Amino acid sequence: MKGGYAGKVLFVDLTNQKIREEGLPDDKVMRAWLGCWGIGLKMLYDMVPPGIHAKDEDNPLIFWTGPLTAVDVPGSTNLSLATVNFNNDLTAGRSHTHGDLGINLKRAGYDGLIITGKSEKPVYLFINDEGIKIRDASYLWGKDTHETEEILKGELGPSVSIGAIGPVGENLCAGGMMCNDRNHNMAHSGAGSALGAKKIKAIATQGSKSFPIAHPEQVADIRKRWVQLIMAGHRYGRSRHGMHFKNEFVAIKDRMGLAGKNFTINQFYSFSLGLNKHKITAQPCHACPQACPVNIELVSGPHKGLVATISGGGEGPEGAGPILGIGEPEHWVYMLDLYDRLGVESSVFGCTLAMAIEAFEKGLITTKDTDGLELKWGDPELVEKMVRKYAKREGFGAVLARGPLEAAKVIGGDAVNFAVHLKGSGLNLHDWRGSWGMLLCHVVSGGSGWPGTAADMIGPEPDAGYPVFTDPFDYKAKPEETRRTSILKFMRDANGTCGFMTWNVEGTNEIVRQAINAVTGWDLSTQELIDVGERIMHLERAFNVRRGITPEDDYNISPRLLEAPKDGRAAGKSIAPYLRGMVDDFYALMGWDKKTGKPWRSTLKKFGLEYAAKDLWG
Ligand code: SF4
Repeated sequence: MKGGYAGKVLFVDLTNQKIREEGLPDDKVMRAWLGCWGIGLKMLYDMVPPGIHAKDEDNPLIFWTGPLTAVDVPGSTNLSLATVNFNNDLTAGRSHTHGDLGINLKRAGYDGLIITGKSEKPVYLFINDEGIKIRDASYLWGKDTHETEEILKGELGPSVSIGAIGPVGENLCAGGMMCNDRNHNMAHSGAGSALGAKKIKAIATQGSKSFPIAHPEQVADIRKRWVQLIMAGHRYGRSRHGMHFKNEFVAIKDRMGLAGKNFTINQFYSFSLGLNKHKITAQPCHACPQACPVNIELVSGPHKGLVATISGGGEGPEGAGPILGIGEPEHWVYMLDLYDRLGVESSVFGCTLAMAIEAFEKGLITTKDTDGLELKWGDPELVEKMVRKYAKREGFGAVLARGPLEAAKVIGGDAVNFAVHLKGSGLNLHDWRGSWGMLLCHVVSGGSGWPGTAADMIGPEPDAGYPVFTDPFDYKAKPEETRRTSILKFMRDANGTCGFMTWNVEGTNEIVRQAINAVTGWDLSTQELIDVGERIMHLERAFNVRRGITPEDDYNISPRLLEAPKDGRAAGKSIAPYLRGMVDDFYALMGWDKKTGKPWRSTLKKFGLEYAAKDLWG
């Protein structure tokens, strides 16, 4: 390629304190996988044979930017992590973050950062134009993510980007996050706990180098047209310049996507009423017209004066309060800020505590089990006490720190029937039972964050062939909708821009193709670009099958997700009678074997994955 990449990958072996640089894989490989989750997954497959566990020294942390990261196109911020999913120790763990962390990594001269081994003592990595330094972080261990960021910025300079873990990651709890640039989190797959397992407290990046762009004269025009598409695009479920917050989440409430009280209430109209009276300020990333994260200054209530630095995705703001029965913004804003400080993903902690509250209500546990605390809905003081115990693995917190499924097994009885999870990992904190396309996308995924973006909850997906919302319960149509939208999602995960630049936005397949060709000098066709997404899906499936995933894992999902909701637009409707057939149809459309869940040999060969075909079929 003639441009689009900084040209180097940094390898760090923490056990032996060795560092080396390599050039990029060859042009053919990069063209097939692009960057971010694409090339990261490819390396994960190559580096992680079955039998490697998430906590093992041999489990790599594979960070990648993409060809559009740090280019002057909208939302060019994506940094992805590929590792074994820490939350279930089973599937391919995918996580993304935005802000400046990835931009600075690429501007320091590195497209990728691959960390193996384990340090004996806490360290942080500082990567800048001069290379990488591994520095002692003993004095930071135990501090929360915000404190760590402030201390390191004070020492390294205000323009340095910091990604830090908190006590949840240090203590290897389920759902640890790495929090960066205050308004951003690498949240899924237990990314923060994966860093904690290697004793990495933080990653600091600062870069000022340029990298080649094949056709720089085309970039300004592409940016202009891309911004126009975004601004003309679908606005229903999306946060733009804080609007999602300012309108008090009317879209998700309207479509009944709130997972209230452990998925027992969808109609939660009081959620976030009064949020708009607090000071909400958008915090846009570099080159982004969307500006989804916000700072919220609470102007009243017990935490008056707090300025919470909230990330823009819906899972935290829309999920953290409702799952525990908390709707007042004065409380959930404080909770979310505390989750960020401790470094815990709201869905993993939220679903786990919600399961425990329901178990308490049903008499499966009592105050003798819960350190004397009465577990009940809508109790922000309880949440604060419990999340602090969770972070320290203290008392009942040590049970919860196993995550929703494993904690439910410890609690016993029928708790596993109302523990909400995806293959033992966290579910995006919305209730997808009112949108069977979104639900199927999640069911057939590895439980590592957002999979496909079916057109039946958040917005239509014109570039996948769905220009208007689809019927959310059309079970015959959902397998194809899942296939098409998932392919697009995974292609988008590989190019280096934030998913909000393309999700629901008509015309972005073409603009992404033009942008990649302009920066790299390639001549990618639309089909080649879409094939990148499908290739990723097949290799991710191969990775997961190789580690033991079978069709039973897709049929036998969390029983709570098979129940019919009691209220909302899906009241009385359960996907249960249709799910097996939907999964089977999806497999057939993907070219996957119904009996084993493996991608067919012919499917893998079609996408240049002969090595995976050999692994799966001999
Ligand atoms: S949509 Fe949000 S997270 Fe994505 S680049 Fe823009 S401001 Fe950043």
